[in-house]
Amino acid sequence: MPPVTERIRQSLVSLHMARALETLDQTLSRLEKGEISAIEAIDELLAEELILREGRRIGVGLRTARLTPIKTLESFDFSFQPSLDRHRIMALAQLEFIKRAEVLHFLGPPGTGKSHLATALGVAAVRAGRSVYRNTLAELIEALSKAEREGRLVEKIRFYARASLLIVDEIGYLPITSGGANLFFQLVNARYEKGAMILTSNRGFAEWGEIFGDPVVATALLDRLLHHAVVVQIEGASYRLRHHADLIPEHTRAHANITPPPPPKRRGRPPKIGGANQFSG
Ligand code: ADP
Ligand code: MG
Repeated sequence: MPPVTERIRQSLVSLHMARALETLDQTLSRLEKGEISAIEAIDELLAEELILREGRRIGVGLRTARLTPIKTLESFDFSFQPSLDRHRIMALAQLEFIKRAEVLHFLGPPGTGKSHLATALGVAAVRAGRSVYRNTLAELIEALSKAEREGRLVEKIRFYARASLLIVDEIGYLPITSGGANLFFQLVNARYEKGAMILTSNRGFAEWGEIFGDPVVATALLDRLLHHAVVVQIEGASYRLRHHADLIPEHTRAHANITPPPPPKRRGRPPKIGGANQFSG
């Protein structure tokens, strides 16, 4: 029978507890010196292992969520954006909106921190053990179109529907074809009341008809995306251009034409959609 410490070492190897194995000698030495009790030694070994595993899990989660470059709420300068209520953002960082499968909209002109805040909330969600996926609307539609061409659309929508938080960045920068809008609608429908989303846009909801190239599809999208929704509107200067205020033309300086959201209303039935598109309603 090998000595106890040797057995512990072997057990840690078999259990793939690399960090605990690494710490073992040091912990045993502190135990021998009477610096810690046996129970504290067990606690120390397990805690070290847990910290390593948590770190690894978060790293993998952040990479698969495509949340790099990492942004955090700690690195967000709220004093630069006075229109933004810090307490409200901190309340959102409690992530209850994810449990409630709500949609969080960040609206505002370019450079006001919409993507930063969306990413920071995504990072907080990964840390809290949630699955997150982030992409731009253009990337999302490109991926859905590709999947459709290859006959894998159902699978792809299922993939995007799986994350507990889906972040769709940059709505409104690029025009969307009606085919693309249709695919996005199918995804939104699949997630509706099942999974949370964060959307960022530099355009007001009134302009969605133009962005998605079809007012009917835009109405159907907004119907779902504003039902259980939180709208955070940022009105301020671009952080990117904070040292170049003199170079920015006056008319683009203050705020883009973000129209206030229509009051979230919900009819008994989703809107009737006519025409050749393949909406189920
Ligand atoms: P938007 O998505 O609204 O166009 P971003 O979130 O991409 O803007 O912000 C542009 C850059 O400025 C990013 O590098 C972001 O981290 C940084 N940034 C924006 N607002 C702030 C802020 N208030 N404090 C710290 N960094 C900020
Ligand atoms: Mg952005």
